[in-house]
Amino acid sequence: MKGELKYEGKGKQLYASDKADELIQVFKDDATAFDGKKHDVIAEKGELNCAISSFFFERLQEAGIKTHYVKREGSIEMRIKELKMMPVEVVVRNVAAGSICRRLGLEEGMVLDRPLTELFYKDDALGDPMINTEHCELFGWATADNVRAMRQLARDVNKVLTELLGNVGIRLIDFKLEFGLLDGEIVLGDEVTPDGCRLWDAESGRKLDKDVFRRDLGGLSEVYHEVANRLGITV
Ligand code: C5P
Repeated sequence: MKGELKYEGKGKQLYASDKADELIQVFKDDATAFDGKKHDVIAEKGELNCAISSFFFERLQEAGIKTHYVKREGSIEMRIKELKMMPVEVVVRNVAAGSICRRLGLEEGMVLDRPLTELFYKDDALGDPMINTEHCELFGWATADNVRAMRQLARDVNKVLTELLGNVGIRLIDFKLEFGLLDGEIVLGDEVTPDGCRLWDAESGRKLDKDVFRRDLGGLSEVYHEVANRLGITV
């Protein structure tokens, strides 16, 4: 049962629930890119992202990674623990693509010798600028210990997701995670969906993620269906 709307983002809403420490996270059909400058509504996207995110959170928890996920409650609704969110996005990269290519002049597709973690300050108006641990400490966004824990958890998530996706012929190029505090401990929050990942077909290199929307490469729900189908998720 949903209570009052507590927060609305570009892709999700958070509602109060019947428990004081839990929220209901609702996945919207909206697709946005370029800090909200491009927007569309894609049928079934909310359902696909709720199903895919629930699947990943369950596998991550089985692997011992703490997340805010409690259970899936409906086609587009997920029950979660309320976290005190860090205003920091943690990106893990296995292969160069997207902003790192623009910033550092790397060629898209260059395989990195080891996974790279990067931090960004979550602020659309500023275009989510890149930051480091000192910024987090100095401006009170996260402690150095929080940052260490987020980077380690992000690497652990990378191992689990790389294997799950690799088993169904999908390369995990990069992805973004958000974390928060639960009883003083850093826990994975937000979502894990093709909206926040780059996924390439292992054979053809075809993009199976939100770059399809960003770059107008075809139907977004078709490729999200393909990711779900390959992982054995019924939507
Ligand atoms: O744009 P960039 O190359 O830095 O993105 C790295 C990864 O993080 C991509 O998988 C992208 O989808 C994701 N990301 C995101 N939300 C943002 C920025 C990046 O999901 N605000």
